[in-house]
Amino acid sequence: MVQNYKMYIGGEWLSGETYFDDLNPASEEVLARFSSGTAKDVDRAVDAAQDAFKKWSRTPPPLRGRMLLRVAEVLREEKERLGKLVATEMGKVMPEALGDVQEAIDTFEYFAGEGRRLFGHTTTSELKNKFCMTIRRPVGVMGLITPWNFPIAIPSWKLAPALVCGNTVVFKPSSDTPLCAYELVKILEKAGVPPGVVNMVTGSAAAVGEAIVKHPKIEGISFTGSKTTGEWIVKNAGLKKVGLELGGKNPIIVMEDADLELAVEGILWGAFGTTGQRCTATSRVIAHKKVKNKLLGTLAARAQKLRLGSGTEKTTDVGPLINRAAVEKTDNYVQIGKKEGAKLICGGKRPAGKGFFYQPTIFDSVTKDMRIAKEEIFGPVLSIIEFEKLDEAIEIANSVEYGLSSSIYTRDVNNAFRAIERIESGITYVNSSTIGAEVHLPFGGVKGTGHTREAGILGIDEFSNMKTAYIDYSGKLQKAQIDTGD
Ligand code: NAD
Repeated sequence: MVQNYKMYIGGEWLSGETYFDDLNPASEEVLARFSSGTAKDVDRAVDAAQDAFKKWSRTPPPLRGRMLLRVAEVLREEKERLGKLVATEMGKVMPEALGDVQEAIDTFEYFAGEGRRLFGHTTTSELKNKFCMTIRRPVGVMGLITPWNFPIAIPSWKLAPALVCGNTVVFKPSSDTPLCAYELVKILEKAGVPPGVVNMVTGSAAAVGEAIVKHPKIEGISFTGSKTTGEWIVKNAGLKKVGLELGGKNPIIVMEDADLELAVEGILWGAFGTTGQRCTATSRVIAHKKVKNKLLGTLAARAQKLRLGSGTEKTTDVGPLINRAAVEKTDNYVQIGKKEGAKLICGGKRPAGKGFFYQPTIFDSVTKDMRIAKEEIFGPVLSIIEFEKLDEAIEIANSVEYGLSSSIYTRDVNNAFRAIERIESGITYVNSSTIGAEVHLPFGGVKGTGHTREAGILGIDEFSNMKTAYIDYSGKLQKAQIDTGD
């Protein structure tokens, strides 16, 4: 029996007038039906968030932090159950699904501690008897809009810092993974987050997402998703504070002195882990001419052995794509790659039967100007590009619109540092894949990926405003830039 799910507004669970289907991507069965929210629901959620803001923004931050710690505790108790749900609804394999939940636990724990920091600065004054400092203030009511590929972790990356900074939120999850979002919000409710502090409106981008972006009472938007949507948000959000975490086209450079076995492990994990559906997925391997053929031979042999299946099955290496449109998009890029003259080494087909599956695919003889080397596919497709000198490899790495993650495999420390300095990306790994961020370090990109940083100590900048305070205890009018301070 498929259940109908409600939205969470002002501490109450409310039904929409119509519902949409939430599918299991491995079986195509309907898992749940979710309320199709409307602009009116967004209005209600914003009103509830504005109301709750009065008290929540004045709650001492350490107490807000304690609430986050309780969320982390409940998440830990529910880890197995949630992991299974992530694997079922989103499709990633169980170890990765449990990692998704662990990332949320780590995030809530990390930002709980921020309740006792939220550091500002104290500094000197150019005048006598005057004190200068900065303090962090909440942004206000914030709209959080998230994708489906980390259905527990990404909402947590936004919810935890937003709440500890004193904001209240209207959260719109992806319509491909609303059940994970529902369970996360249930956990926040169970942990005692007060009514109206977190509101969740499910539904389409057109009805719910756009109403959030344009809402005059929302002060800030935190968005993770595609570059196209990010660009639309920037044009339509007016003067709101906007955080953007967008796509990637992440390269691994393999130097001639690299440990090739290690590189193969990293490339397979980066390209085909999460079925290539990570913003940090490895989609380009830039391989030195002297090692390319050997590397490609091993990669292709290993990629062909990867077993497709439901993320919940122990035997599965690669789960399904998120939906039918993703399969079509991936296949379309494979056809484009063939037409562009790239050499299909393995994969390139959707297997027969139910489920949104696609074979792990490798193209050789790719050049940096081909569309498959430039555009985000967000599926299990890897392009191999050859180079001779490090300068050329870095130029290829930088020849895309995106700049999220990157990696170099080398035993030469000089090459490693050159790559760290010169690759245009927010993250560079040395002798590791393009994926594997840790929550206490800043995460984000440059160029078309957006310039926001989430997680780590910088992760609170998006969710707070710095306020400057001057305290003059001279008892007279002192004028900066005019009086000398004598
Ligand atoms: P998407 O942009 O289609 O959708 C993301 C969210 O935005 C969804 O909730 C969607 O309903 C909503 N949305 C879409 N159009 C909107 C609009 N006009 N106004 C308001 N909301 C709107 O992206 P997706 O397919 O869900 O996710 C995949 C993309 O996300 C990839 O490009 C991937 O690289 C990116 N991503 C980036 C990061 C990062 O941290 N940089 C992390 C994960 C995913």
